[in-house]
Amino acid sequence: NYSLKQLQAIDAAHHLHPFTDHKELRGIGSRMITRADGPFIYDSEGKEILDGMAGLWCVNIGYGRSELADAAHAQMKELPYYNNFFKCSTPTPTLLAKKIAELAPKNINQVFFGSSGSEANDTAVRLVRHYWALEGKPQKNRIISRQMAYHGSTIAGTSLGGMEGMHGQLGGAVPNIVHVMMPYAYELGLPGESDHDFGLRAAKAVEDAILEAGAENVAAFIGEPIQGAGGVKIPPASYWPEIQRICRKYDVLLMLDEVITGYGRTGEWFAAQSMGIEADTITTAKALTSGYQPLSALLVGDRIASTLVEKGGEFYHGYTYSGHPVACAVALKNLEIIEREGMVERVKNDTGPYFAEKLQARIAPHGLVGEVRTFGFLAAIEIVKDKKTRERFMEPGSAAVTIRDHAIANGMMLRATGDTMIMSPPLIWTRDTIDMACDRLLMALDLAEADLRR
Ligand code: PLP
Repeated sequence: NYSLKQLQAIDAAHHLHPFTDHKELRGIGSRMITRADGPFIYDSEGKEILDGMAGLWCVNIGYGRSELADAAHAQMKELPYYNNFFKCSTPTPTLLAKKIAELAPKNINQVFFGSSGSEANDTAVRLVRHYWALEGKPQKNRIISRQMAYHGSTIAGTSLGGMEGMHGQLGGAVPNIVHVMMPYAYELGLPGESDHDFGLRAAKAVEDAILEAGAENVAAFIGEPIQGAGGVKIPPASYWPEIQRICRKYDVLLMLDEVITGYGRTGEWFAAQSMGIEADTITTAKALTSGYQPLSALLVGDRIASTLVEKGGEFYHGYTYSGHPVACAVALKNLEIIEREGMVERVKNDTGPYFAEKLQARIAPHGLVGEVRTFGFLAAIEIVKDKKTRERFMEPGSAAVTIRDHAIANGMMLRATGDTMIMSPPLIWTRDTIDMACDRLLMALDLAEADLRR
């Protein structure tokens, strides 16, 4: 048994963390999360923290589900690994692909597995370009994405993404990917412009990019239905139907990244269903296993899948762990639990509306809050110095970090992204859990306000 101090010293000596300033981390030492149960995580000192982020947007069924451990155990004993190359398959990815196809929008019937959302997006980029090559249009390979998009951390994922800081460290992006404006009315809407008109204007940026490149050179548009890591940016209702219309008009494929929104978070199995979008590919990961195992699934629409079959020829792409039998067994059990406990319907009809109502009633009026946005079990809280003028605090991001630190100290985990606080709770939250979250968050906002206005 190691003490916290010993673990922190070992961590500092040997463990490089994702998305971390290691100089800063050295100064404070990591908080050691050592166990979790239901909606709570616990650190090595026994502190209980309500997990308002479901880990990293993934633990939809909450922690401590022994049924998933049992499913993994049974599969490991039966068949811990075999690949899906060599014209072989194994039962769990086979059955999982069928299950996903049943839950997905009607035009989707095929699934390609990987281990992470980033891998799934890499697959998607290669697949849409391969599709156009099979269709005899290899030059149709440009992909349009958006500023502040997050599509993963591999080189293709980073290239698709629209995070400036990440591009700055890339040393050369994957060619032929361009970025257009995001549908973020709070900062990009014009004075007097309705949400509806803003949505159409943001969609027009995609049409302009297609016209600039020439439709004959554009393979696809990719977007998160709701930009997640970029700040839970919920587009106006006019945006996605217009994007769909534009993609159809110019014969541009529509790729959705539902790594965050997939498997119940929006109150439907997929945001495509919540928003009425018909996509050619849908990237999913995270809540597919509720994070209990690394697994991603790229959902492939009939248009692309039928070309693969009709034209033939090998698609030179795959991972050792594509369709890992243990991860797929865990995913099957996870989806069974989500279904059995009616979580998706509950978010749609009960807890989702309650979450929205409480955040609007209790959090939105706070002096530091410029806007609260919610969709299903996703929320963004814009932090401002002045509610009326929307002026931010001087140093970008620092106010949100101050609130986050107070929130954690008060037993509530949420994320700070720029000047936006993010929540993405497990789907198991009840009305009582939502009340508890609001209590803890309000306390953090008050304490932070005292610090920030000192
Ligand atoms: N796409 C979106 C929308 C994401 O939010 C993420 C991760 O947060 C990814 C892709 C990348 O997934 P992973 O971290 O599993 O590679």
